Amino acid sequence: MEVSSPGPAHAVPDQAEGDRSVPDTEINRLRSLLQDGVDALPSGFALFDADDRCVIMNARFRSMLPGGAALLEAGACFAQMARHNALSVFGIPEAELDDWLARRIAYRESPENDTFDQKLTDGCWYRIQEQRTREGGTVTNWTDITDLKAEQARATDYAEALSRSNAALKDFAQAASHDLKEPLRKIETFAGRIEKGYAQVLDEKGLTYLSRMTDAATRMRRLITDLLDYSSIEAEAVAHGPVDLNDVWADVAGTLDMAMREAQARVTACPLPVVRGDAGQLARLFQNLLSNALKYSDPARRPEVTLSVTVESGLATLCLADNGIGFEPEQAETIFGIFTRLHGRRKYEGTGVGLASCRRIVERHGGTIRAEGEPGAGSRFFVTLPTV
Ligand code: ADP
Repeated sequence: MEVSSPGPAHAVPDQAEGDRSVPDTEINRLRSLLQDGVDALPSGFALFDADDRCVIMNARFRSMLPGGAALLEAGACFAQMARHNALSVFGIPEAELDDWLARRIAYRESPENDTFDQKLTDGCWYRIQEQRTREGGTVTNWTDITDLKAEQARATDYAEALSRSNAALKDFAQAASHDLKEPLRKIETFAGRIEKGYAQVLDEKGLTYLSRMTDAATRMRRLITDLLDYSSIEAEAVAHGPVDLNDVWADVAGTLDMAMREAQARVTACPLPVVRGDAGQLARLFQNLLSNALKYSDPARRPEVTLSVTVESGLATLCLADNGIGFEPEQAETIFGIFTRLHGRRKYEGTGVGLASCRRIVERHGGTIRAEGEPGAGSRFFVTLPTV
C-alpha cells in the first residue's frame, strides 16, 4: 500500500488519486486494522512523512499531547505540533521557544536517529526515540521511563551515601590508627626501659606481667597496622588493566617461599587466566589466602594447597583448597567479618582482618568471594573475577 501525505493523523492516508485498484472498503479495513495495531502499543507512537507531517499516531501518543484535537487530527506538521505543545508538554517558556524549536527542527532534518530522555510537565520521564524512515520521514516512539529514572535516582543516592560513609569510615580508621600509634609507642618505650633497667628488682610475677604487657603492645601494633592496611584498600584507586594471575601467583609464592618450606607444604597451581584489575591488590588477596592455608594447617598431616580455576562466560572462578583444620560450615560467612577469628590466638597468630580485606579487594574488582569448610578436613575459598 502506498503511504502518501498529508493525511489524517489518526489513520492511514487515502489512496493516491486515480488509483482505484484497491477498493475503498479494503482500504478502510486495513486502515482500521493498522490503527488498532498501533493503539495496542504501550508507548506513544507517531509516524511523520518526509514533509514532517503526521501520518498516523496512536491513542497513547494523543494522550501525551493534550493540545487541540484539530491540530492532532489534521495531518499537522511537526513544527506546528512542537510549537503548540512546547509550553504545556515540554515546559519551554515563551522566551526560549524559538531557540528550542530551531534545535528540535534541526534534529528532525538531520539524517541521524536520535534518542533522548525528557521530563515532561506531567512529571513523568519519557525516552523519546526518533528514527528516520527510508523516505526521510520519522518514526517517533515515547516510552514512559519514570519508574526506571526513579530506580536510577535511588541507586545514585545509595551509591553516594555509601561512598560518603566509606570515606568517613576510612578517615576515622586512619585518624584513629595514627592517634593510637603515639600512646602505643610510649607504652613500648617504657616497657623496654623497665625490662632493661629494672628486671633485677622485679620478682617472677612482675616479670610475667611485664612480658604480657609487651605482648599486648605488639598485638595492638599489629591490629593498628592491619586496620590501616584494610582502610587503605578503599583509599587506593583500583587499576583496571589486564593482570596475568600466573605472574601474581608466582610473586606471592616467592614471598611465602620460606613459610612453605618450614611447613613442608606441597603447593600446586594450574595455569591461571588473565583478569582485569589491580596487580598489587590481587597479590594481597592471594597472599592472605595462601598464608591462611599454611597457617591453619593440621599438624597431623603435611599441608597440601591447590589452586585451580574454571572460566565461564567471562568469569574466572578460582578455588584455593587446603587440607588444614577447616571450620564449621555455618561459619563460612562470618569469617569475612572484620576482627572475626574462629581459632584461638595462642595457637594461631592473627588479627582477623585478612579475609575482610580479601572481600573488599574482590568486591572492588566486581567479583565475589565465599568459603567452604569442614572441621578436620580442610577449607576451600572460591574467588570469582571478571576475565579480560
Ligand atoms: P586471621 O588469620 O588474622 O585470624 P583472617 O581474616 O585471615 O584473620 O581469617 C579469619 C578467621 O577465619 C581466622 O581466624 C580463622 O579462624 C578462619 N580461617 C581463615 N582461613 C582459614 C583456613 N584456610 N582454614 C581454616 N580456617 C581459616
